[in-house]
Amino acid sequence: KANRKFHPEDSIVHVSGVDIGGGTLTVMAGPCSVESFEQLEGIAKSCRKSGAKVLRGGAFKPRTSPYAFQGLGVKGLDILTEVRQETGMPIVTEIMAPKYVELFSEKADIIQIGARNMQNFDLLKEVGQTKKPILLKRGLSNTIEEWLMSAEYIMSGGNENVILCERGIRTFETYTRNTLDISAIPAVKKLSHLPVVVDPSHASGLSYMVESLALAAVAAGADGLLIEVHNDPKHALCDGAQSLTPDQFDSIMHKLTALKNVM
Ligand code: PEP
Ligand code: MN
Repeated sequence: KANRKFHPEDSIVHVSGVDIGGGTLTVMAGPCSVESFEQLEGIAKSCRKSGAKVLRGGAFKPRTSPYAFQGLGVKGLDILTEVRQETGMPIVTEIMAPKYVELFSEKADIIQIGARNMQNFDLLKEVGQTKKPILLKRGLSNTIEEWLMSAEYIMSGGNENVILCERGIRTFETYTRNTLDISAIPAVKKLSHLPVVVDPSHASGLSYMVESLALAAVAAGADGLLIEVHNDPKHALCDGAQSLTPDQFDSIMHKLTALKNVM
């Protein structure tokens, strides 16, 4: 179902008034984790002003250490829906367990499957039973074929609203958090009709690189970007080193618009 052979034209995923795919560039931005209502509201308003169409924010966080901040959970989800109501921005947030699919279907506009759960097949089957747009991140060490098969799990259950997200893969290089696989964009575009977005924040782990990687992704044909923005990156509860300030995000948005205009 994800294969372009049987579906030659590009798919567009419709998310509460926002289109993802089909030649437009859709930017999703927001903090790694929802920390408070005030934090999320402030970031959302500035990102919206800069041109972001979707608000991101983690409520359930897949942290490497069990002692690290795990996210606000259901309370974080409630904050996201309050800020959506206030700003009109659709929200994308990560799910980690099949038992939460009903709750997320009710509250989120896009359900994110994180890199660490790309092959959580029970979770894929469960979200496949809904009609919600799903942002499917590529696993840390997964091939393009495995990634597309995970999309197939969701689509074969009846949910064809899948958006793929390249977020960097593990290589021998340790300077960056991951290595952005730019070639995955044209590869997936050739193999599949699904929209592809790129997450330059998790791909690099370094805020100063986000602009370069974002521009490169758009030049390579990405349909959208997922970018971490924080009001105070130094004190962020999660992923501060890769988070942009609202001003840095605004400057990148201007360059992205200029690039898109010459493409
Ligand atoms: C995230 O988007 O906050 C996240 C945890 O990303 P990934 O699953 O790509 O590591
Ligand atoms: Mn993060």
